[in-house]
Amino acid sequence: MKPEDKLEDGLEDKIDELVERKGVTRRDFMKFCGLMAATLGLEASFIPKIAQAIASAPRPPIVWLQFAECTGCTEALLRTADPFIDDLLLDKVSAEYHETLMAAAGDAATACLDSAVSKYAGQFLCFVEGAIPTANGGVYGMIGGKTMLQVAREVLPKAKKVISIGTCASYGGLPAAAGGVTGAKGVKDATGISTINLPGCPPNAVNIAALIVNYLLNNQMPRTDRDGRPVFAYANKVHSQCPRRGTNWCLKGFGCKGPLAAHNCPSVKYNGGTSWCVQADAPCKNCTTPGFWDISAPFFDYSGSY
Ligand code: SF4
Ligand code: SF4
Repeated sequence: MKPEDKLEDGLEDKIDELVERKGVTRRDFMKFCGLMAATLGLEASFIPKIAQAIASAPRPPIVWLQFAECTGCTEALLRTADPFIDDLLLDKVSAEYHETLMAAAGDAATACLDSAVSKYAGQFLCFVEGAIPTANGGVYGMIGGKTMLQVAREVLPKAKKVISIGTCASYGGLPAAAGGVTGAKGVKDATGISTINLPGCPPNAVNIAALIVNYLLNNQMPRTDRDGRPVFAYANKVHSQCPRRGTNWCLKGFGCKGPLAAHNCPSVKYNGGTSWCVQADAPCKNCTTPGFWDISAPFFDYSGSY
């Protein structure tokens, strides 16, 4: 029996409506559900459950804050070639506030944030993109007359869960690199609030989608490692999954940090599963680790030693 055959009654119409709207086939949708199962380390028997969760689970309210960042994390999610990943953010959750996506600006946007936080206090998932400047009271990052630090301190304690998207929000990233004067820190270090971290520069949209799917399935966050990273995506080193290991094409002599980096990029890849750093002949820069801008430099090392 195919996984599609195990769908519950009533789901067929919802899935048909979804695939028709996205201009893809039902097979594409089931393939995406299979990708989510594989990414989460679930057996194929979970595929119908994932299909059901995506098609019909209650939509959790989401507030998406953007602090000191380049919007690359949002772009990575929205520009993905997979038609179902942006759908997860735009349709399968209730994005109550997202500065890049919402039409409102200025005072209207601030009012929208206040309203969402108050209406869904204790229920909303708060996704945070970007580091938080903390030096001199946080004056190096302002939104609507408040410091980013102040916004974070007001909003995050009211969230059900806080998810740091990308290395900047997780650990400070580029804004926290040596020589900076802003005192930028990751969300947990800046606020003391516990976070689920999805680091990567940028993070992989497949892993963000899998985190949302996991929540739709189980109404809880996935198991994490000591750096707050979901085990499903960060349990293994890049090097241990790399197809170039032990070959003449290994980039270790060019400064590759794959033996240090924890990420599932060799199997999930980027850009709809097209490629990833080493496949594109670029050494791994260990972008998922705290302090990577400083500890991984130089990113390219042609000395031949490691
Ligand atoms: S290219 Fe990098 S990740 Fe791949 S085997 Fe060599 S050192 Fe390891
Ligand atoms: S290969 Fe290394 S630098 Fe590239 S995305 Fe993966 S962990 Fe980051």
